[in-house]
Amino acid sequence: MSFLSEIQRRRTFGIISHPDAGKTTLTEKLLLFGGAIQEAGAVKSNKIKKGATSDFMEIERQRGISVATSVLAFEYNGIKINILDTPGHKDFAEDTFRTLTAVDSVIVVIDVAKGVEEQTEKLVEVCRMRNIPMIVFINKLDREGKDAFDLLDEVEQKLGLTVTPLSFPIGMGYDFKGIYNIWEKNVNLFSGDSRKDIEETIEVSDLNSSELNTLLGDIAANQLREDIELTDGIYPSFDKDAYLNGDLQPVFFGSALNNFGVRELLDCFVDIAPKPRAKQSEERLVKPDENKFTGFVFKIHANMDPNHRDRLAFIKIVSGEFKRNTPYLHVRNKKKLKFSSPNAFFAEKKQIVDISYPGDIVGLHDTGNFKIGDTLTEGEIINYKGIPSFSPEHFRYINNADPMKAKQLYKGIDQLMDEGVAQLFTLEMNGRKVIGTVGALQYEVIQYRLEHEYGAKCTYENLNVHKACWVDPEDEKNTEFAEFKRVKQRYLAKDKSGQLVFLADSVFSLQMTQQKYPSITFHLTSEFE
Ligand code: GDP
Repeated sequence: MSFLSEIQRRRTFGIISHPDAGKTTLTEKLLLFGGAIQEAGAVKSNKIKKGATSDFMEIERQRGISVATSVLAFEYNGIKINILDTPGHKDFAEDTFRTLTAVDSVIVVIDVAKGVEEQTEKLVEVCRMRNIPMIVFINKLDREGKDAFDLLDEVEQKLGLTVTPLSFPIGMGYDFKGIYNIWEKNVNLFSGDSRKDIEETIEVSDLNSSELNTLLGDIAANQLREDIELTDGIYPSFDKDAYLNGDLQPVFFGSALNNFGVRELLDCFVDIAPKPRAKQSEERLVKPDENKFTGFVFKIHANMDPNHRDRLAFIKIVSGEFKRNTPYLHVRNKKKLKFSSPNAFFAEKKQIVDISYPGDIVGLHDTGNFKIGDTLTEGEIINYKGIPSFSPEHFRYINNADPMKAKQLYKGIDQLMDEGVAQLFTLEMNGRKVIGTVGALQYEVIQYRLEHEYGAKCTYENLNVHKACWVDPEDEKNTEFAEFKRVKQRYLAKDKSGQLVFLADSVFSLQMTQQKYPSITFHLTSEFE
């Protein structure tokens, strides 16, 4: 197959949802369609079990699963599909944000009874800002839930989307009869038999035919006619370009657990979802069909085997072909590296591959060369944009609890920060180290891993910080800057890359500082125009 057709047949996407909406179940059904797994229950949930946050085995278990489920690839009708795993737990939201820089589209899963939940809102907002094409799957139709129109309203209002249903439920919960596939114009009847792999669909080219009454009964048939007439009236008709530009989001209904409505979703997905897209770098826009290889690191995972503490760096291939045993330029380190055993992913298995294409993810063994956001090329200086750090929500001093192990501690902190577990800030005033995280759970993870992987012990001390605000280096030229630096010295720190950060202790002090020094702009992310 030619290089171009390899690109054309790839779809790389992520499934995002609030925990429990059905992401794992849907992933599994998709893999079943691809024949990549043989039975249900094969895909492990990467969820943190409730109440298990202080159970360290749980942390290791979760890490093990998240290596296995980082990329799940399968083939369906000649299309190579790469699903990138996105943790739903809010404490790992940053990991999910970074993964979203490597997807070309997403599927958003919503629970029909719970509607739009908090994590969904946050993740969809990130996708919306980046114009990532989204398809919505409303799940658990076999249960009593909200009215379909109310739900579509909620999706529009809370998520700021413009929706167009491509399937529509016939009844719900106890009365759930099936779905009408607006996209393919047929009816799929629900039998509630979860072992059924292939559903029988009945073509209904004319909704007014009496056949529909025979199929569904008069009441349900008339209701469906009304519903479809209403959807025709309210929602814009599907437009592929609008979807690809992030302006329109098609919606499907179904029940992942019952493998119902999933094939409709998958068939439409492979039809409309974007092929690998061009990516903006600081230097220029890079197109997938360029001959020279480029790619970037969006995730780093420490090896689970304590005897081989090397790491796996996940690279998204943006352009060209990635080849085994070929020297590539590590742009930040200005060093050539080659990889003898790059891993590709197929379902839950890893295998060594000789060649990978744009859209694919390869896992590279790394002994500490990579950090998140690093770019590899054939020699050109390219720095991919779009992996900013966000202001953490929690801040604590980290102290060394074993003076004999200082070196181990600093090495451990350094590597865990490269992996993106948390952010490190060093106070300007006294050099003390502060760890910032999205959730409190990360402090336990760091403490546990420092001890088990690096033999170092740490303690934490609370620190009152509301937000970390990055200061534009350009602003340092302003006359106000010297005074700002002198007055606020206690609150200034450097992040890991040496960028200046103002640690505001409250909303109020941030506002006051902004008013006092209007020529300095404070950014809540590390990357700004
Ligand atoms: P995740 O946290 O989003 O990965 O959610 P899971 O896939 O683990 O699903 C959470 C729970 O919802 C599990 O108990 C599933 O069996 C259940 N579930 C998933 N899909 C459906 C569905 O279509 N109908 C019903 N009734 N339950 C479902």
